[in-house]
Amino acid sequence: MCGIIGYLGKKDALPILEKGLERLDYRGYDSAGVSVLDGGSFNTVKKPGRMDNLKEALKQTSMPGSLGLGHTRWATHGEVNEVNAHPHWDCRQEIALVHNGIIENYRPLKEMLIKQGHVFVSETDTEVIAHLIESYYEGDLEQAVLKALPQLQGSYALMVASKKEPDKIIAARMLSPLILGIAKDGYYLASDATALVDEAALVIYLEDGEVAVIRKQGFEIKDFKGLIKSKTTSALSWSGPAVDKKGFAHFMLKEIYEQPEVIKKNIEIYTEKDTVDFSIDQRFFQDIDRITIVACGTAYHAGLLAEYMIEEIAGIPVTVDTSSEFRYRNFVPEAKTLFVCISQSGETADTLAGLRLAKEFGFKTLAMVNVENSTIAREADKVIYTNAGPEIGVASTKAYLSQIIVLQLLALKLTHLYRKQLPGFYYRYFTELKKIPLYLEKILAEAPVIESLAEELQKASNFLYLGRGINYPNALEGALKLKEISYIHAEGYAGGEMKHGPIALIDKELPVIAISPAGRVRDKMLSNMLEVKARQGKIVGIITEGDSDLMQACYKTIPVPFAEEHLSTMLVPLPLQLLAYYIAAKKGCDVDKPRNLAKSVTVE
Ligand code: GLU
Repeated sequence: MCGIIGYLGKKDALPILEKGLERLDYRGYDSAGVSVLDGGSFNTVKKPGRMDNLKEALKQTSMPGSLGLGHTRWATHGEVNEVNAHPHWDCRQEIALVHNGIIENYRPLKEMLIKQGHVFVSETDTEVIAHLIESYYEGDLEQAVLKALPQLQGSYALMVASKKEPDKIIAARMLSPLILGIAKDGYYLASDATALVDEAALVIYLEDGEVAVIRKQGFEIKDFKGLIKSKTTSALSWSGPAVDKKGFAHFMLKEIYEQPEVIKKNIEIYTEKDTVDFSIDQRFFQDIDRITIVACGTAYHAGLLAEYMIEEIAGIPVTVDTSSEFRYRNFVPEAKTLFVCISQSGETADTLAGLRLAKEFGFKTLAMVNVENSTIAREADKVIYTNAGPEIGVASTKAYLSQIIVLQLLALKLTHLYRKQLPGFYYRYFTELKKIPLYLEKILAEAPVIESLAEELQKASNFLYLGRGINYPNALEGALKLKEISYIHAEGYAGGEMKHGPIALIDKELPVIAISPAGRVRDKMLSNMLEVKARQGKIVGIITEGDSDLMQACYKTIPVPFAEEHLSTMLVPLPLQLLAYYIAAKKGCDVDKPRNLAKSVTVE
């Protein structure tokens, strides 16, 4: 989950580590630390809390040296404090190590090492790796690491350096992402390409079971037996300004405002004269009887939307699972299944495991990811990028919309192959689709209205989100967004299900966000809203502009332009995101880095 960064080269390491950690701290931000090797000894500073605490502490010290390791932690084992922060050490403080992941067998390893006389100072699982390497160290760090790795169970991206070999970093990967950046001034290692933007033009993505041996004058990628592997380098396509706030108060707000562009871009990339072209051989999409979609969190909600879209217009049966359930339930595989996995980062551990399982079942696999060359993108048979650009706010906004548009296009692609539609269907669909960016701009112009509504609602301690039909998953997503960033309890429910339970919660204190744009279930939603009103619930309706019947049922409304039902799914998230954002910002929450969360969930 965390972010790791390493540098070995001609420049001073510390500014590089600081910049890298600032860019990575959305991955985990409960503590941070750096070690820089200066000639014969390491200087280390670690601080609990946000990156700012570490930066403040670093002002008091100078840390020259051109080899460094840095870490932002998302604690899995042991409290958040200075001792548990990384880098970790062997007994003699000769070996420094940073680690992303979980060592599942750390207990037996720790017991064994303690029996051998090793002294542990932290509660982390990570520290066992440093001592294990120490136990094998006889002056050759690479050999010691190669002996230690086969004993580790679990997930790791790790980097290790020894003060006895000041011109070397050894890094290894198993189930956690790790990238080597190659620049004129030296070598960079990071858990995420974001840290390497504008630093390294070329990158190598390490695979599970690979070790990088970095020296000032060159590097080698090896397997765990020490055999050299040949790897291809790729260019990094993201650039600097994309990871700046551009004057917005938060990344999240900036990313909300980027959504019209994201939709436009995906339409431009994937459509041509009212047809969809993913640059994937047509045969890949043929001969499919069933689709299984697997994803986590927000991406799971995009998957649920796709179920409605694909079943309705393409007529192919779809099942959707959260990745963590899919991988451990006894899923019954059926032949001719297309497996689709969705992940912003392309590194989500459970989704990656789901993908690997799907490959074992012999399914055709299709990944929808945002981050180019991420592990899921590389391992799936085919990939469709969602082109949202770097998303830094931990709570997903533009990545969600990018997933919806791409899934929408997939539904159209499949419709073309599997079902005859009436003449004019595609022309009409694409004509309306192209209007979506403009409609999103119109909703953004209403942001001040949503902001004042947030002022009013921010004191509520519970929210209910209701939606029906194709906009039901948006109710789940709206509730998720609010709880993630404002810590207010919120539930998303299908409008028709309300009377089977949550109606008991309704009183005059409960804001009910009712998603009811024009469409086939609009009248059904009106009935559900009236049921809420009869019990004095405070209804905020997300409705199509001009729908006066619904306006009367609501305490407040947020109008969205009229769009065909399927396309309305791309308009509804925007007011929900803005409402959650303003409520959280007014409550003084750390919107971009909500407590306990991290952006790229690389542990299961
Ligand atoms: N399991 C390690 C710890 O708790 C690493 C966690 C992380 O990936 O940040 O310190």
